[in-house]
Amino acid sequence: MSLKHLARKTVQNIKPYQSARRIGGQGDIWLNANESPFSNEYEYQQSPLNRYSDCQPKAVISAYAAYAKVRNGQVLTSRGADEGIELLIRTFCEAKEDSILYCPPTYGMYSISAETFDVKIKTVPLTDAWTLDLPAIAEQLDTVKLVFVCSPNNPTGNLIPREQIIELLEMTKNRALVVMDEAYIDFCLDQSTVDLLDDYAHLVILRTLSKAFALAGLRCGFTLANPEVIELLLKVIAPYPVPVPVADIAVQALSEAGRAKTKYQVLELSANRAYLQAGLSQFPNTKVHDGYGNYILIQCEDSQRIFQALWENGIIVRQTPIKNGLRFTIGNRDECEKTLAFLRTLFNA
Ligand SMILES: *Cc1c(COP(=O)(O)O)cnc(C)c1O
Repeated sequence: MSLKHLARKTVQNIKPYQSARRIGGQGDIWLNANESPFSNEYEYQQSPLNRYSDCQPKAVISAYAAYAKVRNGQVLTSRGADEGIELLIRTFCEAKEDSILYCPPTYGMYSISAETFDVKIKTVPLTDAWTLDLPAIAEQLDTVKLVFVCSPNNPTGNLIPREQIIELLEMTKNRALVVMDEAYIDFCLDQSTVDLLDDYAHLVILRTLSKAFALAGLRCGFTLANPEVIELLLKVIAPYPVPVPVADIAVQALSEAGRAKTKYQVLELSANRAYLQAGLSQFPNTKVHDGYGNYILIQCEDSQRIFQALWENGIIVRQTPIKNGLRFTIGNRDECEKTLAFLRTLFNA
């Protein structure tokens, strides 16, 4: 007998997030999950594992606060930025009453997390230039507690203009929190909105070690916000969310040497991105969009066929809800070269 009927109706009806890992594939070249191609080594510290970790290990919090140039009380660490999204929804949204608002095409987890908790969803599509439609957002704010804005946006790759974010913050004062998803901001750190935290108490920023820090498998993310928001989130978070080895490695990654390595790898990936972008731009009927993270979006005729041909050749990229859109994660130089070489045969270019 199936036990499905025992689950909440909402859960029975959920379509799980199609993560790159879930979709799978048989690849030699993985360009579908915005992971880093660099596998950095860490020393295994023999920390005792018989004791629970601190809920918020102080060394991790201090190290990230120093990196992000904020105060310790403005930082929360969790299992990836994804857990930050979920904590915000569980902390601020009343089930079946309150809403989140986000602007598609964008990251898929805002809606999935809201759905699992029966929180309502409002969407205001990005404009044709992939910027915020602020007048439309203003009209939709009723019942909205959280507005998610992803910049650089996944999967389009563009930045949301700072003036728009400020306007959104003014518009939402005393009504809703603005959550800036800065998962890719380490690739363009000067574009962060972190300096606005002190001016806007309702600004929240999500960060992660999964992308530029090359630690997707570690599951370590950060929420930056004013201490009152952090205290509320800490009421909801699991008692021991950060495994001891995760804290050890996060501290190493955020040390001076770790940060220097990340900076170097960011430069290398930016050079590879320019290389891939220039190469892709040669192909006929292909629009290559500027990207500020470790990925670029192209729109090409017959994208399904191209995706399939790449897939069958062991090069796994990501399909997107954007018409004819394919997203390429920036790999190492060899991976970029092989991808371009294969596409050249496809396009006969
Ligand atoms: C990858 C990603 C995340 C989640 O990062 P984790 O820290 O690995 O959970 C959040 N937001 C966006 C836009 C992402 O692309």
